Amino acid sequence: MSWTEHQRAMLAEMGLRVWDAPGAQEPVVAVAAEAVGAGPASRPIAVPVTVAPQPHIVSPPGMDRAPGAVATMDWPALRDAVAACTACSLHQSRRQTVFGVGHPQAHWMIVGEAPGEEEDRRGEPFVGRSGQLLDNMLRAIGLSRQAGTLAGSGESSAPEDPAKQVFIANTLKCRPPGNRNPAPDELARCEGFLIRQIELVRPKIILAMGRFAVQSLLRSTAPIGQLRGRVHHYQGVPLVVTYHPAYLLRNLPEKARAWDDLCLALDTVEASAAHAARGA
Ligand code: SF4
Repeated sequence: MSWTEHQRAMLAEMGLRVWDAPGAQEPVVAVAAEAVGAGPASRPIAVPVTVAPQPHIVSPPGMDRAPGAVATMDWPALRDAVAACTACSLHQSRRQTVFGVGHPQAHWMIVGEAPGEEEDRRGEPFVGRSGQLLDNMLRAIGLSRQAGTLAGSGESSAPEDPAKQVFIANTLKCRPPGNRNPAPDELARCEGFLIRQIELVRPKIILAMGRFAVQSLLRSTAPIGQLRGRVHHYQGVPLVVTYHPAYLLRNLPEKARAWDDLCLALDTVEASAAHAARGA
C-alpha cells in the first residue's frame, strides 16, 4: 500500500507513523517511537499488523429487532423515550442520557460502551481524550462526525454526504456510577434503543468498539483480539470489531491494530459499493 502525504499526516494524528523499513517490501504502519517514550530520534516501534483473512460471517443469536413500541419509533420519539427512560437503576444517578450523535443516515455507525463522566456531563458520546482519538481515527479515513448534529433533536444542519459521515452511539445510554462496568441486566434493558438506532440509520458498516459493544451486538464474550480481523454481520450489516479508544490510550502499541481494523472496515464498505455498482 502506498501512502500519500495527507494520509501519513492523518496517521500521525493517531500516533502512528509510516515507516519505510529497510528491506521491507511495503511501508510498515507503526507506533511512533516518541509516543512510547523512546525519544524522537529513534525509529518507530514496529508492531505486527494482522493481515485480514477472508471475510467470515457470524450471525449473532438473540434479539435482532427493537422490542415493543420502540420498534416503530422515529428519531424524535426515540430520543424522547431514551430521555424519559427509567427501565434500569442507572436513571437514578445520571445527569442526562447520552443518546448519540451524527448523521441520521450515516454510512458508518460507531458503537461504544457506556457514557463516562464527561459524556454524562455533556450529553454526547466519545468526548474528552478518547473522543479526540476517535475523531483523529475517523479523519484518517476521510470521515467525520458532525459535531452538534443530533439525530431527532430537531437541529437542522445539512450534512453533505452520508458516505463521509458517522453516527455514534453507546450500548448504554446512561453512565454507570464510578465508571463501573455495565451490568448484564442494564445492557439487556437498554439494547432495544441501540437496535432501533441501527434500524433507523441503516449503516453500511458498524464498528463495534470494546468488549460491551461486542457482547451486545455479537452475543460473544470472546476477547476482542479473537474477534477482530474478520467481518461479522449484525442485522445484515457488516460489522468490524476493534478496540475502544480509551483502551488504545492505555495501550499505545494496539493503535496499529486499530488502524488495521479501520482499513478492513474501509475495504468492506468499498467492496460493497463496488458490488452494488456492478449490480446496478
Ligand atoms: S441505561 Fe438505558 S435502560 Fe437504563 S435507564 Fe438509561 S436509557 Fe433506560
